[in-house]
Amino acid sequence: MPIQQSGQPIQSVVIIGGGSAGWMAAAALSKSFGHSLDVRLVESEEIGIIGVGEATVPHLSLFNRLLEIDEGEFIRQTQGTFKLGIQFNDWGKMGDSYIHGFGTIGRDLGLLPFHQYWLKARAEGRAKDISAYSLNTLAAPLGKFMVAPHDAPPNTPIAEIAYAYQFDAVRYAHFLRKRAEMQGVQRTEGKVVGVNQNSETGFVDSVRLERGELIAGDLFIDCTGFRALLIEDTLKVGFEDWLHWLPVDRALAIPCQKVGPITPFTRSTARTAGWQWRIPLQHRTGNGHVYSSQFMSDDAATDLLLKNLDGRPLADPLPVRFRAGKRRKLWDKNVVALGLAGGFLEPLESTAIYLVQSGINRLMSLFPRADFDPALQGTYNAQAQFEYERIRDFIILHYHATTRDDSDFWNYVRTMPIPDSLKAYVDLFAAGGQFFRNGTEMFGLTSWVQVMLGQGIMPRSYHPAVDWVREADTLALVDHVEKVVASNVGLMPRHDDFIARHCAASPN
Ligand SMILES: Cc1cc2nc3c(=O)[nH]c(=O)nc-3n(C[C@H](O)[C@H](O)[C@H](O)COP(=O)(O)OP(=O)(O)OC[C@H]3O[C@@H](n4cnc5c(N)ncnc54)[C@H](O)[C@@H]3O)c2cc1C
Repeated sequence: MPIQQSGQPIQSVVIIGGGSAGWMAAAALSKSFGHSLDVRLVESEEIGIIGVGEATVPHLSLFNRLLEIDEGEFIRQTQGTFKLGIQFNDWGKMGDSYIHGFGTIGRDLGLLPFHQYWLKARAEGRAKDISAYSLNTLAAPLGKFMVAPHDAPPNTPIAEIAYAYQFDAVRYAHFLRKRAEMQGVQRTEGKVVGVNQNSETGFVDSVRLERGELIAGDLFIDCTGFRALLIEDTLKVGFEDWLHWLPVDRALAIPCQKVGPITPFTRSTARTAGWQWRIPLQHRTGNGHVYSSQFMSDDAATDLLLKNLDGRPLADPLPVRFRAGKRRKLWDKNVVALGLAGGFLEPLESTAIYLVQSGINRLMSLFPRADFDPALQGTYNAQAQFEYERIRDFIILHYHATTRDDSDFWNYVRTMPIPDSLKAYVDLFAAGGQFFRNGTEMFGLTSWVQVMLGQGIMPRSYHPAVDWVREADTLALVDHVEKVVASNVGLMPRHDDFIARHCAASPN
């Protein structure tokens, strides 16, 4: 029997907004669907893009692979650097420092992950800090970096090195724009001032530009940033507010002169009412102070930021206001929201660009026909909800698991009620060091274990099966991993040297 098609194929997609979200969507859709789909992007230079968002997670390399982006060219064009993880200073308590590194911790043995054996060895005073057992956490503070060499012996830490990128967000949008336009995306300059909806269905038929032009489409992607022009202003889907769990709601971003070697990691230093980021690029260092307006004034936040730059400021601080949370639906009718239009979890774990990427992947997998079968939308929204909530919990963990009591802000976040879903993770880990990844949630064992330990949650015990292994074998495993990781790191070049050799950008 022939397949009955329930709707005509979609022929045109209109993306409103040309920040990272808009151009990522344009580049991915035009690459994947080719000329069978007419992709148009409308953006307004007068409004501009947010232009912050310089640190990423390793998943971006998959997106780059989809677009067949050459890594060296990408790094050069965006003044990019490599990121092995995030260094968290003063988070668990003042004076603490740990790295949430990408990749793996040690080598698993039998059914159990490495950190279980480490817990036992540590309890007996026979193990170092957990950072000694991961390539990323050992190499990062030493300023070392390399990509896996083609001839690296398999199953060695260096063969499995995991890394992300740090880049200039404005250059990133330009870089993607060039590719998208080459792939056939049509860009229209102009400000959208009106939205026309079908009187019966409420679907968006077209948008109206300030100069009067109407742009019609089958599917609209709202990438208008915090304005959320289609998904909220027009469709009014509502916002799920998570400010009570993530009270930081303002940021000041400022670039400063680069001083010293380029660190292969992002730094997050906890401050009185929030935290400060430091993201090294080739031509400058990006900085920002993220804080809660309930607990700190804008002036005090500015002073604190300016006092804590490592080089001369290169601009005035750029203020940004936001609210943690997400739209109740990221897909409604024929509108899908990506990027800041869909929601925002503060930048502590550099997850916003990842959420754009994963939204694009999800949209491509669930790509509708012109009848917009509600099952597709329902699945999309449920998966996005799950993904946001899991990341939300991971970020809240950093504020919850702390002993800091030196300000009203820290007293609030330390004692606030947390989501039950996060409490279950913390309780499980605190008991026996266990972690179970929930389905497809973004952060896995390495991330949760490193951050829980780094924030001061030390399990009371370890998995009983560790005792089924002879003690001498457990200690030998822990000792062996430490030596292998150290010897691999010993072979790595300095991050600066690696960049200079393979992907140095031109100076401006
Ligand atoms: C303080 C801060 C720090 C961040 N740090 C990170 C980080 O380290 N890592 C990370 O992954 N992400 C980070 N992000 C998030 C990141 O900046 C964004 O997710 C990303 O840049 C995508 O932004 P966007 O494209 O959704 O919005 P924008 O860049 O704001 O783009 C919106 C677009 O819509 C257009 N537009 C708006 N209204 C109209 C209209 N009426 N007509 C026509 N066009 C219109 C604008 O012109 C613009 O082109 C951070 C965000 C903030 C606020």
